Amino acid sequence: MSSQKVAVVTGGNKGIGYAIVKGLCEKFQGIVYLTSRDVDRGETAVSQLKEVGCNPVFHQLDIDDQSSIDKFKEHLVQSHGGLDLLVNNAAIAFKNDAPEPFSEQAEKTTAVNYFSTLRVCEALFPILRSNARVVNLSSSAGHLSRIPSADLRAKLNDPALTVAQLNKLMEQFVQDAKDNKNQEAGWGNSAYVVSKVGVSALTKIQQREFDNESPNRNICVNSVHPGYVDTDMTSHKGPWTIEQGARAPLFLALEAENLKGQYVWSDATVAQW
Ligand code: NDP
Repeated sequence: MSSQKVAVVTGGNKGIGYAIVKGLCEKFQGIVYLTSRDVDRGETAVSQLKEVGCNPVFHQLDIDDQSSIDKFKEHLVQSHGGLDLLVNNAAIAFKNDAPEPFSEQAEKTTAVNYFSTLRVCEALFPILRSNARVVNLSSSAGHLSRIPSADLRAKLNDPALTVAQLNKLMEQFVQDAKDNKNQEAGWGNSAYVVSKVGVSALTKIQQREFDNESPNRNICVNSVHPGYVDTDMTSHKGPWTIEQGARAPLFLALEAENLKGQYVWSDATVAQW
């Protein structure tokens, strides 16, 4: 079993995740896992990075598939015994003109961006080593102000909110979308916004739980808005390169000191949530 430090990036085969892997290969002192749900896309990305002198290790990981998560966890345990850095980058966004009904978009988007990210955390948090860092990719869309209802904002921002209660709120949004009541109920009309607000709120709870339950592990969990980036997700409308989009996530992964449970902006400063 290796004693090297270990970093994992989800959705590393393209976009911001790919640039985060690249940046980690350059600066992280240890093994960097580029994970991807699709083996061919992941291995191609690893080959491309090898051509520019980077040396990530590939492992399949579909965050929407519990058996894939379990296999990856088992691999990490067997090969390394633990994990030092987890970057939860993988996510989806329906295009504005997507034909799927809103109820379906709501269910799928919260399933992948919120619930699957949570499942990865639930699997891998127990094997995080002391001083480990977790970086959750949120978004400007994950700012609390993006939820129209003051009542929902108060619930999401409750300092005593639990993961179980947050799960219920996300489930309530999906149900409201199915009942065509998402606007009336105060969620607004973006499933992506709700899923990313969920990720930002989850980050705060996760930090609180680490601090309460295992303060000696000194684990940092933060969420980040990477900027508006030229990727497939934005249909290449974002002005920033993927390397620019990776800057704030890499800051949290490698440099930030004493940041815990924060929502960090693309210029790597802490933003009020
Ligand atoms: P892309 O769409 O370019 O890349 C998303 C990545 O996530 C891909 O590797 C994709 O894999 C992967 N992914 C999707 N679903 C799964 C899954 N079930 N399991 C594993 N991997 C999955 O997005 P970006 O690079 O633009 O976005 C990266 C992160 O940054 C996301 O969390 C996004 O919400 C956030 N963000 C992006 C902004 C931007 O301007 N681009 C702005 C704000 C936030 P595959 O290739 O197989 O589809």
